[in-house]
Amino acid sequence: MTSQQQPSHPSVSQQSSRQTIIAGNWKMFGTAESTRAFAEEMVRDPRLAHASGNGVGVVICPPTPLLHVLRPFCGTFFELGGQDCHQNVNGAFTGDVSAGMLVDAGCRYVIVGHSERRRYHHETDDVVAQKTRAALSAGLTPIVCVGETLEERQAEQTADVVLRQLDVVLQAVSPDQQFVLAYEPVWAIGTGLVATVEQAGEVHQILRKFYRQRVSNDITILYGGSVNATNAKELLAHSDIDGALVGGASLESRSFLAIVEATGV
Ligand code: PEP
Repeated sequence: MTSQQQPSHPSVSQQSSRQTIIAGNWKMFGTAESTRAFAEEMVRDPRLAHASGNGVGVVICPPTPLLHVLRPFCGTFFELGGQDCHQNVNGAFTGDVSAGMLVDAGCRYVIVGHSERRRYHHETDDVVAQKTRAALSAGLTPIVCVGETLEERQAEQTADVVLRQLDVVLQAVSPDQQFVLAYEPVWAIGTGLVATVEQAGEVHQILRKFYRQRVSNDITILYGGSVNATNAKELLAHSDIDGALVGGASLESRSFLAIVEATGV
């Protein structure tokens, strides 16, 4: 099935509340050849068909120049996502990609506010909120990342930081515009340091409670930060953790599929 055809499962934006989602963020890795091999391994594997056929949203966010390689494979068993989008529809922004361009390239999702964007591209909470709004306007489901640094955690500012980051986004969108939230403690990204289930679960509960109070609806919240085939099952078993945003372990189909399988669906 090609991207022109209908997916077999509803996207988050069509749902009223929560969905299990496993999203892979490839960051700046991959070649056309490795991407094709990844896609072929994925679509051949019965675990992917089983999970997506039973409502798990599987999303791959490759670098923009590799979207076209995955596009012919997506739509049935997995969806495509961008890693970032500009807040403007178009303009003189060399090197940037708009949300509409991602839609054109076959995407249904886009990551916004990843800590690497906040850190290396100096994206403020306000810019992240504008990007979220731009993505929603283009028809994408944004995966909005929030998370504290190690210093902030040690200073017991975790709740303040993640709620501030979420609050700015909520002020920019209307309550019926659904997005996915990803709790990604900065100290756990790419470090091999995974948050314990208790640490992740506690922050997910805080975020969910805040969102429910503000929007009187529920929200899909993913955990991200060194998720791998070994720790995924325990994290995903927590009732407030709806899925995972996976960096390093999403680069190989074998480890990524093991995380999809760990959803238990
Ligand atoms: C990420 O890039 O969002 C991420 C969570 O990376 P990793 O899984 O490698 O920590």
